[in-house]
Amino acid sequence: ATPTAVMVGTGVGASQGVLIKGGQALERAHKVNCIVFDKTGTLTMGKPVVVKTKLLKNMVLREFYELVAATEVNSEHPLAKAIVEYAKKFRDDEENPVWPEAHDFVSITGNGVRATVNRREIMVGNKNLMSDYKITISADAEELLAEAEEMAHTGILVAREAISILKSMNIKSIMVTGDNWELNPSKKQRKSKNYRYDKSSTVTISGYKIENDKSNDFAGWGPCLAMVGDGVNDSPALVAADVGMVIGAGTDIAIEAADIVLMKSNLEDVITAIDLSRKTFSRIR
Ligand code: ADP
Ligand code: MG
Repeated sequence: ATPTAVMVGTGVGASQGVLIKGGQALERAHKVNCIVFDKTGTLTMGKPVVVKTKLLKNMVLREFYELVAATEVNSEHPLAKAIVEYAKKFRDDEENPVWPEAHDFVSITGNGVRATVNRREIMVGNKNLMSDYKITISADAEELLAEAEEMAHTGILVAREAISILKSMNIKSIMVTGDNWELNPSKKQRKSKNYRYDKSSTVTISGYKIENDKSNDFAGWGPCLAMVGDGVNDSPALVAADVGMVIGAGTDIAIEAADIVLMKSNLEDVITAIDLSRKTFSRIR
């Protein structure tokens, strides 16, 4: 095609509301033989609406939709808008609802959203989202999803989890096992930051490797790591951590390696210890 033909082509496009950004685009378009369509928002451009809600846990709809809307109001997704719109019906302040505050909102593209509302972690989305957060989907929920799918509806799952005290203190909890442990307990380690973490994937502490997952989002986290253990095999990690805490009933080597000993062998004293430290140094969490 001549430059003039291209100009005419793009001009005609523009006049018909199709903006063709240059001759290359115009040229390539004629060779297209396969098109991939995005579904939500593209193929289904109409406004989605909520048609059915099924509560599998014992709670009232009003309360349920308050938590869900407080989460979804942070999302631009058409499904989120439909949910928030629907949630308004349950409110007295329907015209201008004030939703509870949502913290730590995260949008996982193509899967859904999560946030913390009223000390609960709320997850709203599809099966992938739930599996990302290691939430098992009940048989009842599976059945409802299949039912929705059959009717060409979009089934959306909601999960809520109470947040642990540690989480509410802004502390991540990670469980490790020493199954592949090699150690030399007699070799005393000097105190040093002997752990590594990389923002998006893993934390490694003296041989313990902690895989990141979405429930354990390390992004933007400058860790100050405490390790809590009891055994000989925990000793290197107790030393490597910023704060090593040992169960009082633990082995002598571990007790020696630790910075803090929980004399009552009560795990809750991990909180006691941190609380005490925070109060002493009046650290704002
Ligand atoms: P599509 O790929 O069809 O355009 P999206 O990628 O926008 O759809 O979303 C895919 C799926 O992710 C949705 O069908 C829904 O289950 C889930 N999802 C995405 N965003 C949200 C949200 N804000 N609330 C609930 N579910 C969501
Ligand atoms: Mg889309």
